[in-house]
Amino acid sequence: MTSFPSDYKSGFVALMGPPNVGKSTLMNAVLGEKIAAVSPWPQTTRQRQMGILTLDNAQIIFVDTPGVHRPLHKLGEHMNEEATDVLHECDLTLFVVDVSRSPNEEDRILAEAVADHERVIPAILVLNKVDLVDEPVLEDHQSAYLEILHPVQESIPISATLGDNLDKLLPLIITRLPESPPFFPQDQLTDLYEREIAADLIRESVIFHLRDEVPHSVAVRIDEYKERDHHGAYIAATLFVERDSQKGIVIGQGGSMLKKIGTAARKEIESMSGRKVYLQLRVKVRKNWRNDESALKLFGFGRSKVK
Ligand code: GDP
Ligand code: MG
Repeated sequence: MTSFPSDYKSGFVALMGPPNVGKSTLMNAVLGEKIAAVSPWPQTTRQRQMGILTLDNAQIIFVDTPGVHRPLHKLGEHMNEEATDVLHECDLTLFVVDVSRSPNEEDRILAEAVADHERVIPAILVLNKVDLVDEPVLEDHQSAYLEILHPVQESIPISATLGDNLDKLLPLIITRLPESPPFFPQDQLTDLYEREIAADLIRESVIFHLRDEVPHSVAVRIDEYKERDHHGAYIAATLFVERDSQKGIVIGQGGSMLKKIGTAARKEIESMSGRKVYLQLRVKVRKNWRNDESALKLFGFGRSKVK
């Protein structure tokens, strides 16, 4: 952007909430493009990711976080640290909840983390998935969420999948942002490189096809990401699992499962990057990688701060 009005607003907006409430879906919907992996099973989002929306009067930088949940192993702890770090660093927090159900333990853990916070956090409660509930139930759940998140004053019901009320959410956000020139060029959509998004989309495909059979023990490493001129891109990736038995499941009979995973991931990467993709996947066992600091580093956990 070469020139912008002097009252231009720009700031960082954290998307906080338990897994599966629709944070990534909301970010994709607002940006009008799929840059974050979405799945009906929790924990597809493993890394913090920014989604940048540039408007005439404001630039909103959404920061999508891995959901807050109880630390079950090192990876879990890491994901929690990331989430609360973000809270400190952003100008505004959107607490995203699933209003089709009442608050559960995960919502309460999150609410406690907010109450422990030393400064008052400017926040909006976003009641997602309104398409799944009737008015009386919505009101019930809304007051239950406002009660546990009592420092938060403002709430808005939305549907990230249908796009309902997103046009009302954006002005609410912009009002709360500080005056500042934009942080990023106007055509930049995200801070992640295409290869990192590709890795996330491959993980999403694994989780989609295997559900609970290989419970979140899959890490994806991109080994090669090459342009082949007008032929598109060539991507080679390794899926790391924790056990030999999981390797068998991921590969499937005669390689059939790996083929399905690869085909679905390839289509998503093609539509994200707008060109043809040739995707080659292989599977390797790396025992207990989720508790292994060096492996966590290798797979890209431990990213830099927001600003
Ligand atoms: P995250 O873990 O909070 O990032 O959640 P995701 O964005 O991955 O979404 C989890 C699941 O909820 C996916 O199956 C989404 O399609 C679904 N979902 C998200 N938003 C809505 C919504 O507004 N209505 C309905 N019915 N489902 C939604
Ligand atoms: Mg997500």
